[in-house]
Amino acid sequence: MKIFVINCGSSSLKFQLIDSETEQCLAKGLCERIGIDGGMISYTPDGGEKEKKNVDIPNHTEAFRLVLEALMNPATGVIKSVDEIDAVGHRMVHGGEKFACSVILNDEVLEAVASCNDLAPLHNPANLTGVYACKELMPNVPMVGVFDTAFHQTMPEEAYIYAIPYEYYKKYGVRRYGFHGTSHAFVSEHAAEFLGLDYENSKIIVCHIGNGASISAVKNGKCVDTSMGLTPLEGLVMGTRSGDVDPGVLEFLANKEGMDIKALLNMLNKKSGLLGLTDNLSSDNRDIEDGYRSGDEACVRAMKATCYRVVKYIGAYAAAMNGVDAICFTAGVGENSSILRELVCEHLGYLGITIDPEENKKRGDDNVISTPDSKVKVCVIPTNEELAIARETARLV
Ligand code: AMP
Repeated sequence: MKIFVINCGSSSLKFQLIDSETEQCLAKGLCERIGIDGGMISYTPDGGEKEKKNVDIPNHTEAFRLVLEALMNPATGVIKSVDEIDAVGHRMVHGGEKFACSVILNDEVLEAVASCNDLAPLHNPANLTGVYACKELMPNVPMVGVFDTAFHQTMPEEAYIYAIPYEYYKKYGVRRYGFHGTSHAFVSEHAAEFLGLDYENSKIIVCHIGNGASISAVKNGKCVDTSMGLTPLEGLVMGTRSGDVDPGVLEFLANKEGMDIKALLNMLNKKSGLLGLTDNLSSDNRDIEDGYRSGDEACVRAMKATCYRVVKYIGAYAAAMNGVDAICFTAGVGENSSILRELVCEHLGYLGITIDPEENKKRGDDNVISTPDSKVKVCVIPTNEELAIARETARLV
């Protein structure tokens, strides 16, 4: 089956066309600045050159029209007609407590997704806009929603509940949900297979560290805890997000700086993390690594704080699962930053972990970076959320 995998933001549309039998990505691309001046579409067929075109894209329907045009282009396209697309898999950010697994997107389901909009006001409406635009152009193609929160729905109450008045959970669903679920599920399952562990009888910690970052504890194939909460702001130090802070900081800064709640949340989401810790030098881990190597004080601070937070969560999750068989690193930083992995694993000697420095330098493929006598296996597993969405879509359709 040919599966069209879609990830729609408010002004962007990322896509891949994946053959679900061979798991080959036939083509991929991105529309940017939808509804804003200076629109752009990029398109890369498998094995071909990347094409980029500047074109105004007034709305998501027009974006889908341009993408389908690129996919069917007689010279560089990979299909002849829309009829060749068997199903569409949409990445959906927040499924609240309603969706613990992927679902076929019918009218009833779309209404239920819309009822979660309050929980993800920036993301869910954009996802839904994408679904409706796609439906307009491909009304007869089945569509599946794959939720970022679904994998974490197995967390027990003690892990997901905030110790604030319970009425807010009952009234509004204020609790921890977690994100990056598609990646945590894909990586933990794949790691078990790669390492020869029985997934249903294993304890795996997945460190998804990219521009956004989260860690999860996966026991016997089910998520039992994860570091992101009601929103993707909780947990680790990220590119521009603070992760955990004492909420008392907010009142303190509101008084000192005259900031309102909107300005405070903007600061925590957009001006903190690596960017904040380096006094606006960069939110990009590559710059932080360069600075760390040359001894730049701000970059050393940012790198150490980032790694320390990861170390704390690994310790917490090893405790939560009463042990750990494997620790996996994934996403842009987790897959590529040997320095981060080295600095994190330096603190894990108490778990009997030792790292092979040569293996840790390698990049690109699934790889075990711990030594053969290490008590816990440590590995790098490249994530592939698009493939995970394509698999889920094919399974449901
Ligand atoms: P993601 O959000 O998963 O795309 O990850 C983005 C992050 O990965 C950015 O902070 C990048 O700096 C980081 N990253 C990508 N490539 C490398 C690399 N070769 N070395 C270190 N960090 C990298």
